[in-house]
Amino acid sequence: MIESGHVLNVSHLTVDYGNENTPALALRDVSLSVDPGEFVGLVGESGSGKSTLAYAILRLLHGGRVVEGSIEVSGQNVYELDSNHLRKFRWETVSMVFQGAMNSLNPVLTVEQHIFETIRAHDESVTLTALRSRTDELLDMVEIDKRRAQHYPHQLSGGMKQRVVIALAIALNPKLVIMDEPTTALDVVVQRAILDRIGEIQKRQRFAVLFITHDLSLVEQIAQTVSIMYAGKIVETTPVEQLLTGTLHHPYTRGLLNAIPELLEDNVAISSIPGHPPEITRLPSGCAFHPRCLYAKDECRMSPPILKLYAGSWIACERLPELEELYSDQ
Ligand code: SF4
Repeated sequence: MIESGHVLNVSHLTVDYGNENTPALALRDVSLSVDPGEFVGLVGESGSGKSTLAYAILRLLHGGRVVEGSIEVSGQNVYELDSNHLRKFRWETVSMVFQGAMNSLNPVLTVEQHIFETIRAHDESVTLTALRSRTDELLDMVEIDKRRAQHYPHQLSGGMKQRVVIALAIALNPKLVIMDEPTTALDVVVQRAILDRIGEIQKRQRFAVLFITHDLSLVEQIAQTVSIMYAGKIVETTPVEQLLTGTLHHPYTRGLLNAIPELLEDNVAISSIPGHPPEITRLPSGCAFHPRCLYAKDECRMSPPILKLYAGSWIACERLPELEELYSDQ
C-alpha cells in the first residue's frame, strides 16, 4: 500500500560551509520532495551540491551547517531528532549507499558478517536463525549466490561488492534509500546490470530512492522524476518522460541533454557546456549559470531566478517564457 504524503520533504534548505566573513553556500534554497515508492534522480556536475544534500538529509554534515530551511522524513523533522532517534532513523528510515562504499567493506568480515552486524546494530535480540534467513533473502534480492555469504570482500568482483553494499542498505527495510553515484567505479555493462537490479528491488520492496549522479543518461530509464542541480540550487525538476520528449528545459538541462549522444535524434550535434561550474565562495550574481549560458541577458545577473511551473516542469530561469522561441531560433 502506498502511504500518503512525501517520504522526504526538503524545504528551502541552505547549507553554509563558510564563516561570517566568507560564506560558502553549498546549498541555496533547495526544495525537493520524494513520494513513497518514487525513484528520483538528482543530477548535476561535481560540486553542484548533490552529495551535500544527501549528507544534510542524514545529518552527517561535517563543517557545514543548515542556516535556513528544514528536512522532514516521514513527517519527522530530521534536525529535531534526539541522538537515540537519530541512530534509529539512520538505516531504519533512511539508508545511504555512499560514493565508493564498496571499497569500505571490512576486509576481515565475510559478506554474512557484514549483514549480521548491520542488523544487530539496530536489534540485538535478533536470533541467528532470523539473521541467516534475512541474509539469504537479501543475497537473493541482489542476485548473489548464497554460497558467497562466507566470502570476504577480496574474493568478490567490484559488481558483487556493490551488490553487497546495496543489500546492506536495504537490510532494515528503510523507507528511503539515498544512492550517491553507486555505480561510478564499475564498467558500463556492470553499471547497467546493477541499475536494473536496483530498479527491480525498489519496485518489489516499495522503498523510495534518491539517486545521485552526474550522468543524466543513467537515470533516464529508471527514474520517475529528475531534479537538476547547478551551483547549490535545483534549476529544474521534471517528470522523466518530459525530459526526453519535452522541448522546454532550463538552458543547463538542455546543455546536459545535448552532451548525451544516445538521448538525441540522429541529426542533432553533440556539444558540451562551455566553461566550468563556479566556486561556492565566489558565486556569480543573479543566476549562477549566467557566465555559461548562451541566453544570458542583463536581467539574469540581477537576482537568482526562482522555480516556476511551466508545461509540467519546474524551471528556474528569468527568460522562461521566451525559452521556447529562443530554442526554436537555433
Ligand atoms: Fe540563462 Fe538567464 Fe535563464 Fe540563467 S536566468 S539560465 S542566465 S537565460
